[in-house]
Amino acid sequence: MTDRKTELAANLAKVEERITAACAAAGRGREEVTLIVVTKTYPASDVRILSELGVRHVAENRDQDAAPKAAACADLPLTWHFVGQLQTNKVRSVIGYADVVQSVDRARLVTALSTEAVRAQREIGCLIQVALDAGASGRGERGGAAPGGIEELADLVGEAPGLRLDGLMTVAPLAGEYAGREQAAFGRLMDLSTDLRRTHPAATMVSAGMSADLEQAVAAGATHVRVGTAVLGVRPKLG
Ligand SMILES: *Cc1c(COP(=O)(O)O)cnc(C)c1O
Repeated sequence: MTDRKTELAANLAKVEERITAACAAAGRGREEVTLIVVTKTYPASDVRILSELGVRHVAENRDQDAAPKAAACADLPLTWHFVGQLQTNKVRSVIGYADVVQSVDRARLVTALSTEAVRAQREIGCLIQVALDAGASGRGERGGAAPGGIEELADLVGEAPGLRLDGLMTVAPLAGEYAGREQAAFGRLMDLSTDLRRTHPAATMVSAGMSADLEQAVAAGATHVRVGTAVLGVRPKLG
């Protein structure tokens, strides 16, 4: 194995151990939690190695970085998740490679995603990104819709051609009442998911937890964790 492959294999094994332990502690089966490796800022060669090591889900947050990487890895059996704030002028490009968009947070974005998904003859999975720190504006610092906006967006996605409502996503807030209280934040997301599934029973995905807080997310009931740093290393700059 190359040095990089050895390194990524060791990191993946540690993350796998953490997820397994968190599932056991929560009385959950390991198969209830899917690992998504966040490959942002890292090269296509790393994505290829991860695929060889058995990773099946990867995530990116910037279209400029992701589009060429996904094209270079088009031969690999990977599901691509888009997890960054998404401008409508980037939607056509993102629809070209993303299977799931986890950062759906406004009506205009739903309309644009639907238009481009239909044009590309694709079905795109959508998660509503929930901002648990949303202020009066109804939007979070790092994107996301306020909890009160979930139902309306969910209905829009549910009716939009080319889109499929898969569930909810959040990032633990750095400010507001949930700052430093990841477990409470993820618990709140689970309650919102329970509410959502009353009207949208197929929207079962709950995407929460990153390198620093995946245990809290698994304890709360997350179905998908998004792990970057713990697998690939510390990113050179905030990405
Ligand atoms: C970067 C990123 C992650 C991964 O964060 P790490 O701390 O590197 O594990 C997860 N989710 C989103 C939305 C991200 O942008």
